[in-house]
Amino acid sequence: MHDDSMRRTGDDQLVYGMPKHMSGISPNEVFGKIMTANGGGNWSADGRLRAYWTVHPEPGACPACRAMEGLQYLEEPRRPHPNCKCEIRRHDMPVVDIRGSLDGFGDHDMQNFAASQKITVTVINQGLFPAGVRILVDRDWEHVKETGLIGIWRYFSFEFTKFGDLPLYWQVEFFYDCGDNSLLSYRIEG
Ligand SMILES: [Zn+2]
Repeated sequence: MHDDSMRRTGDDQLVYGMPKHMSGISPNEVFGKIMTANGGGNWSADGRLRAYWTVHPEPGACPACRAMEGLQYLEEPRRPHPNCKCEIRRHDMPVVDIRGSLDGFGDHDMQNFAASQKITVTVINQGLFPAGVRILVDRDWEHVKETGLIGIWRYFSFEFTKFGDLPLYWQVEFFYDCGDNSLLSYRIEG
């Protein structure tokens, strides 16, 4: 029997056996536990999910196999019984590496893309003055990130994490909001 704790079921999903609205533990800590449980095989070195699996029961499949339909598995599920002919499909996560820039005070840019549960956003100030941006993810103003003033040729990185059915759709917006006119380059990796 496969490990039920690794099932993902949308709003009621469990992540390593814990409901996603758990209190007192951050998503990154949860990821740490999943990585440990998986031995790291399905995860890149920096903790990004590289694939997930779905099960597609054959016609007339037994209840055990049918129960595996419609879920997303973070590791390849084991078949419930010998001679199972159901299809197990691997879905590779898109590899995200998006670059762009903001040129001067008041500039704005936006990216929409599909990715895994975790992305890293890095902003580099290419000069000529200290400057900073706000980074808004999925229009969640409550958790908008501010780099503050970044020195010339310095950079700032943020990680963002969310859960849900894969792949996840992300919207990342950049607002140039402090400092003199400078050139700020950004990179989104996921
Ligand atoms: Zn089967």
